[in-house]
Amino acid sequence: MKKVICFLLIVMLVFLPSCKTVSDTDSGFDNNTKTGKVFTGDINDKKFTRFRLSDHCSYSQFIETYKGIYYLVGHTVYFSSDGIAKYVKLCSKPDCMHMDDYNCNAYIKTNLIAYYDGYIYCVALWEGNYWLFRMNMDGTDHVPIKLISTMQERYAGFFEHGYLYYYKGCIGRIGNTNTVIYRTPVFDNSEGTVVVDAKDKGIGVDEIMLFYPQDEHLYIYTYSPDKKYSVCRYSMENGQWSDFVNTEWCYENVLTGTDKVYWYLNGEGFYEYTYETRKTEHVADVAGEGFYSVSYNDEYIYACQYFETEDSVTSPMFYIFDRQYKLIDSVKIDIEEKCYNPLYLTELDDYIILSTSTWNRPPDYYLLKSEIGSGDIKVRKIGE
Ligand SMILES: [Zn+2]
Repeated sequence: MKKVICFLLIVMLVFLPSCKTVSDTDSGFDNNTKTGKVFTGDINDKKFTRFRLSDHCSYSQFIETYKGIYYLVGHTVYFSSDGIAKYVKLCSKPDCMHMDDYNCNAYIKTNLIAYYDGYIYCVALWEGNYWLFRMNMDGTDHVPIKLISTMQERYAGFFEHGYLYYYKGCIGRIGNTNTVIYRTPVFDNSEGTVVVDAKDKGIGVDEIMLFYPQDEHLYIYTYSPDKKYSVCRYSMENGQWSDFVNTEWCYENVLTGTDKVYWYLNGEGFYEYTYETRKTEHVADVAGEGFYSVSYNDEYIYACQYFETEDSVTSPMFYIFDRQYKLIDSVKIDIEEKCYNPLYLTELDDYIILSTSTWNRPPDYYLLKSEIGSGDIKVRKIGE
């Protein structure tokens, strides 16, 4: 239950001005999109291409695009027109049983998906090695783009603004042989280039627990038995490393901002580290009794209580704080399903998306952000 694996969030590494606009009618995708409305913005808006730091689906399972929402679970890609409409398997083959076999458009053997420039990308096992794959937004044409690493080398990686950042090893597992992080564009077949070697910061093989790009930085989490998790960052602009910040917790419950690192420790409360002063401060008390997953955005902090045991009968509380740690609102998530992981999954402009299981079904509940502060937040079922 305790999610030890880490994975995470946000960036703006490479500015790729590509102001294309596409209407939904261009792709024959309308059978899946219920709205049929024409999108007139930038299809590569950074909100679509950034690494979603505040998501609690450990890998990049949830992506927002100009067409709608895609969600990966169990090697199957689902689609929802707006994130709260029913999630359907991304396959319109007339005779397909969608039984997760290799012939179904929705099926692909990968752990995370990403969006860029009108396509869905992932790294999947193919012919025994890890390949970058591209697929159309209606799920058709799964195309291998380039070899990323061999089965022997292993692989972990995250997408950001049309680039894949990857490591030839496994995050949080022993047996790795190197500490180099590479980058490669998704839109051509060029080879990956070295971004940084973590050993330059004294990080050994098997110590990389997580890495992700954010703005011009690459963040790397390490683990040691005495300090638990620490995070440091490497500037891809000037080649400088920051100090390690000892957050104790891994990416969940941590926000790495440009000037500060924010995190929550169960039983202790909220902390902030300021890069300029190099100081860590305890800034607010615990959210409440029990264990919480905590997620930050520009306006709010969400603290979602999760069950300590699978037999727990308590309905979890969902607290909403402002960024000064003042409680704004709360709601009891009183639902039939037992959940075995933090309920909070991610958020969209208007909704907070909840999931009772991130490994065997699409998101199933949501809250309306417009109800925050009303004292009467309703828990709503997705697809109804
Ligand atoms: Zn199918």
